[in-house]
Amino acid sequence: MVIDTQEARHSLEKGEFSPYFQPLIVLRTGKLKGFELLARWKHPVYGWISPDDFIPAAEKNGWIDALTRELLREGFAAMAALPAELTLAVNISALQLHHVNLPERIQNLAEATGFSLGRLTIEITESALGANVENARVIANRLKALGCKLALDDFGTGYSSLSQLRCLPFDELKVDRSFVHSMTEERESRKIVAAVVGLGQSLGLITVAEGVETQEEAEMLLWLGCELGQGWLFGKPVPAAELANVVSAPRQRVSADRSASRARRVYSRSLDAQPSQRFAQLRAIYDGAPVGLAFLDTKLRYISVNRTLTEMNGVPMEDHLGRTVQEVLPALFPKVEQYIRRALSGEVVPGVEIVKPTSGPNPGTTIFVSYQPARDEAGEVVGVMISIVDVTALKDEEKKRLESEEHFRYMMELMPQIPWVIDPEGRALDVSQRWLQMTGMTDEQWRGFGWLDALHPDDRQPTIDAMNRSFRSGQSIDVEYRVRQPGSGWKCLRARGSARVGADGKIVCWYGTLEDIDEQKRYQEELEHCAVERPSISA
Ligand code: C2E
Ligand code: CA
Ligand code: CA
Repeated sequence: MVIDTQEARHSLEKGEFSPYFQPLIVLRTGKLKGFELLARWKHPVYGWISPDDFIPAAEKNGWIDALTRELLREGFAAMAALPAELTLAVNISALQLHHVNLPERIQNLAEATGFSLGRLTIEITESALGANVENARVIANRLKALGCKLALDDFGTGYSSLSQLRCLPFDELKVDRSFVHSMTEERESRKIVAAVVGLGQSLGLITVAEGVETQEEAEMLLWLGCELGQGWLFGKPVPAAELANVVSAPRQRVSADRSASRARRVYSRSLDAQPSQRFAQLRAIYDGAPVGLAFLDTKLRYISVNRTLTEMNGVPMEDHLGRTVQEVLPALFPKVEQYIRRALSGEVVPGVEIVKPTSGPNPGTTIFVSYQPARDEAGEVVGVMISIVDVTALKDEEKKRLESEEHFRYMMELMPQIPWVIDPEGRALDVSQRWLQMTGMTDEQWRGFGWLDALHPDDRQPTIDAMNRSFRSGQSIDVEYRVRQPGSGWKCLRARGSARVGADGKIVCWYGTLEDIDEQKRYQEELEHCAVERPSISA
């Protein structure tokens, strides 16, 4: 569209140009940070004319300064009426950054309207730096001395983004909306946004994402560590008259769902330290872990390994990196391949016990391995995190313990008494196999209070009473009862036991034995019988 300079200047005088304000949001909290001022031209005949059309014309035909002055005057005045913590970002054209009196002009306008320059951010596009970088640097430093901040706009679209970034003392980096837009669908864009945010962070700059239109984009940006967001999701540009409404409008956090909590976690971490420190911290944790750790890519190549794993594998770190598991550990590979592939298909394989093959490093050792799929911001599996614990010593210990338990059990079975264990209420926890043989009970029947079923009905209540007395007093159990012997009537037993008391003084359980007192009883009865029959002998 061809814009007539005379007409444009005339429109400017008539006040057809006006500033619009688009909200900038702190992604982490959802709070309003401030606004970006965007030029609007409502032509009485042609209607709205896009700044993409009139800004280049204004720059080319020398009315950009007049336009900027008009917009800033109105913009500063409108902002002066809003809470002082709200900021204003304005766009300054390439040429203007080379005008020696730009800082003074901005300062005068601010003073005239009562707007503090500490609230102002000047957005410059990469092309704004042009050939005379030295000149631009002097002006930029003067603007900073006045309290203004500098933002590099549309980052990523120019030709020499990185070198521009070094030229001026920037405070903010604005990620161009073309990347933000395609970020949720295109991996490349996502990587560019991630890289720009990472670059910004490592240079200590605030990163601002433009053109945020969806919740999904906002969540992803937050997850990537981007600080500020701007776009239709948070609000379209509005005229000054609507500013108060925008300021008082209720705002939501970027999201309250699971990806936001994940995003918040990552974000809050990103606040604690610079990426370089964070990396050093993570590396130290990684290397110092008593667990072998490795990260494999989708082609099963080692991308990273920690020191513990290099020791476990008996292979130096440099011989791992870039090589596949099959190349590094040919003998072990057939045992682990299926788990790695399962993790690559998205499954968490939490703990697999593997005995290392007889050929290869540390033969015969037992390892406990977990496989965790690693996903990128879009949830795509990009590799597998493997953690390995050597459990050989633990296994040996367990074997020894089982053996000694076995010995003990064997010894106990040889004793004439029958050992038992009950809980503080009298439920049977363990008893010798001989109880089963004697009573004909099955393994299920004796457990809990089941053992009481073997008792003679007349002995059951007295036994319970006697045991309850011991449970209350803690005094030893000593009770006699008859148990049913399938096929051969009743057998008389004497149960004796004592309590094991825990550190808190409470009874943990009771240990005891059963003694066969059948013969003793019979003998006693016989004695008594004899005494009754021949009372005269002793007389
Ligand atoms: P910019 O500085 O990158 O401004 C952001 C542009 O993105 C604005 O377009 C804004 O309306 C648009 N935008 C904001 N949110 C979204 C979104 O969610 N989706 C999409 N698709 N677009 C969004 P606008 O207002 O048309 O301005 C275009 C460009 O014109 C600006 O790009 C800026 O470079 C330039 N411009 C605007 N006002 C001024 C000014 O006062 N002075 C100078 N020198 N340039 C200006
Ligand atoms: Ca801008
Ligand atoms: Ca921009």
